[in-house]
Amino acid sequence: MTAIDDLRTHLGELHDLELAGALLSWDQETMMPPRAAGARAEQLGTLARLHHERFTGAETGRLLDRAASELDGSCEDSFEASLVRVTRRDWDKERQVPTELAAELARAAARALPVWTDARERSDFASFVPALRRNLQLRLRYAECFDVAHPYDALLDDFERGLTTPEVATTFARLTDELPDLVAAIGAAEPVDDRCLHGHFSVAGQRAVIDDVLARMGFEDDAWRLDASAHPFSTEIGLHDIRLTTRYDEGYLGSALFSAMHECGHGLYEHGVPAELARTPLHSGVSLALHESQSRLWENVVGRGRPFCGWLLGPLRETFPEVFAGVDADGLWRAVNRVEPSLIRVEADEATYALHIVLRFELERALVEGELAVDDLPEAWNDGMRRLLGVEVPDDARGVLQDIHWAHGAFGYFPTYALGTIIAAQIWQRMREELPDVERSIAAGELAPLREWLGEHLHRHGRKLTPRETLRRATGSDLDVGPYLAYLRAKLGAVYGLE
Ligand code: ZN
Repeated sequence: MTAIDDLRTHLGELHDLELAGALLSWDQETMMPPRAAGARAEQLGTLARLHHERFTGAETGRLLDRAASELDGSCEDSFEASLVRVTRRDWDKERQVPTELAAELARAAARALPVWTDARERSDFASFVPALRRNLQLRLRYAECFDVAHPYDALLDDFERGLTTPEVATTFARLTDELPDLVAAIGAAEPVDDRCLHGHFSVAGQRAVIDDVLARMGFEDDAWRLDASAHPFSTEIGLHDIRLTTRYDEGYLGSALFSAMHECGHGLYEHGVPAELARTPLHSGVSLALHESQSRLWENVVGRGRPFCGWLLGPLRETFPEVFAGVDADGLWRAVNRVEPSLIRVEADEATYALHIVLRFELERALVEGELAVDDLPEAWNDGMRRLLGVEVPDDARGVLQDIHWAHGAFGYFPTYALGTIIAAQIWQRMREELPDVERSIAAGELAPLREWLGEHLHRHGRKLTPRETLRRATGSDLDVGPYLAYLRAKLGAVYGLE
């Protein structure tokens, strides 16, 4: 056994503990009877504590030192050098956090989840306040463990290593400068007819279309699952075990299919990380923004693109002939790209989506900086929705209670959604240069060339590189809002016949 092997064995066990927790979380959101929430919170807390104690212990440090001494001269990108470098960074970071706090964060999040579900159902924000306050307090204690310029930097870093609050603020300022004008121009144009997406669409019929699309994307029946959940998500439980969920609405066709494509984009990233990296900290997507770039690319750039809609019309006509007999590909494409400022982030169109994220970023910053009290969140939320999107929020269920993230204790997560959307446009621009036929393939329902390009340029790195370096290798540049704004203007300009 070499020192690298010893380190790998140690990290393999830790990885197993982490993925056992992922399976418990998946089960909690898909299968678990609701009364088991208390017991599940204890189980997740125990796993988090065991993982934290074992990972941050001196043994990991000793194994790292020995492995590092074996490296001499290994190239930076090699498995061995990357394993030591990335693990050392994770270890240094996690050691700043007391084990008791790590366990309490997991327990409090698992306890808050059913409270949030119930509060959202009854649109009763007050009943969620104690759990939310607890999650926020714990996150602030967590942020205090790190030496950072801004406490919010510590939270961002968990999802997007190295990202800073001013960078997010600068990027988002571009969005608030430019997006409202585009939304207003669309609002003044002739509305898009999306009646073909409304009606009655059986779950079985939707599932048949989704199965066809996902199989083309790369979903394999012996390594993936698709289930239903209130909040669509995807998770990796281990090598060859990718779990996706989607949410069916029998009255609206635009929900389950695009959610499934979105989650499958995440799944493809995890699935595309090479098996040689399995059971190590390198075997996962590098950051949430890069992850979201994959889901958004498949959901919006591909799924809502004109070439794919031309293909999709075939399966839709077969499955729902009475609705789609009289709809052409342009009609379907316009319908799925309808823009309308609305209340719910996960249902938002491409032009307004990022503004929902800007609001959450502003509120999280204010909460973390102590400028906003938890009790005052609904009012701040409703004011922000009016200012950014011009919509009135009728109740907290469709307002401040709509997202699961704060119940999970995840503050600093939201910005990655908008950044991923921006990166998706950068990747698309690069891919079209390198694969001039990509749109012709998509129009034929052939999605493998696209998946393979992503595998080669992004997925295969896993967590070996930093998020910034991963982005540079995939796109040739740093984060850049330009391609995203150009993409939106071109596409929605064509859909709405703007100048
Ligand atoms: Zn996503």
